[in-house]
Amino acid sequence: MAVVNQKGGVGKTTTAVNLATALAACGKKVLIIDLDPQGNASTGLGLENAQRETGAYEVLVDGAAIADATQATIVPGMSIVPTTPDLAGAEIELIDLERREYRLKDALAHANLAYDFILIDCPPSLSLLTLNAMVAADCVLVPLQCEFYALEGLSQLIKTVERVKQNLNPVLEIQGVVLTMYDKRSSLNEQVAADVRAHFGAKVYETAIPRNVRIAEAPSYGKPALLYDIRCAGSQAYIHLASELLRREQGLEGRSLKVA
Ligand code: ADP
Ligand code: MG
Repeated sequence: MAVVNQKGGVGKTTTAVNLATALAACGKKVLIIDLDPQGNASTGLGLENAQRETGAYEVLVDGAAIADATQATIVPGMSIVPTTPDLAGAEIELIDLERREYRLKDALAHANLAYDFILIDCPPSLSLLTLNAMVAADCVLVPLQCEFYALEGLSQLIKTVERVKQNLNPVLEIQGVVLTMYDKRSSLNEQVAADVRAHFGAKVYETAIPRNVRIAEAPSYGKPALLYDIRCAGSQAYIHLASELLRREQGLEGRSLKVA
């Protein structure tokens, strides 16, 4: 599942990390692939730079095996392919490589992985890195902040997903849209959420992730919010989101969600 939105700061990394943690807490085996050169998922899970020798760059550019680039995390049942510093240059290096859009897909196909879910945290652009994620994934999860331009951004993203589906990955679909940093006291948030739900219906998760300071604090302790403060409203929302996702998956048995 590729976690995609071309805008930065909308909650992609927070959603990838905390949804993955909640799924792992449900007994699922989960892998996060950190494809953002900023490496927020890696640092947010407590991985220092020195601990990241082999990671996403080596997989994409050098053809390293996924298993060799995977590390355990503090969350039982959850592993990560971290960002490595060179990933910032991968965007340009990939241009000249063979099967440049398929590098991650090929790496996953060659690996004999036993995960229930693989979540790919993408950079804030529709770049070659994001393209690799969308080609490798069965589906896209879109975190969306309910602000004024949200719908325009979403329409652009949907067009991109359609284009990738037509040209590079016929199974790709939008699995869901998650409203993030939601403040029910804000009438703009409420209005945009109503518009998004009117346009995208059942694709939009019922669970909205509230704006919650504990969620923002957690990464500085190198922990997912669920390990930092499981009782806070944000952690509880991610637990609800995971159970909603698992229910959807049962409804979609055999279709896009099962990775391993
Ligand atoms: P992206 O990966 O899309 O760039 P992030 O997940 O890094 O976005 O979130 C951007 C910022 O907002 C981060 O500082 C993060 O801690 C904060 N944040 C994300 N979700 C919430 C939330 N529900 N409540 C409060 N702060 C949040
Ligand atoms: Mg991010």
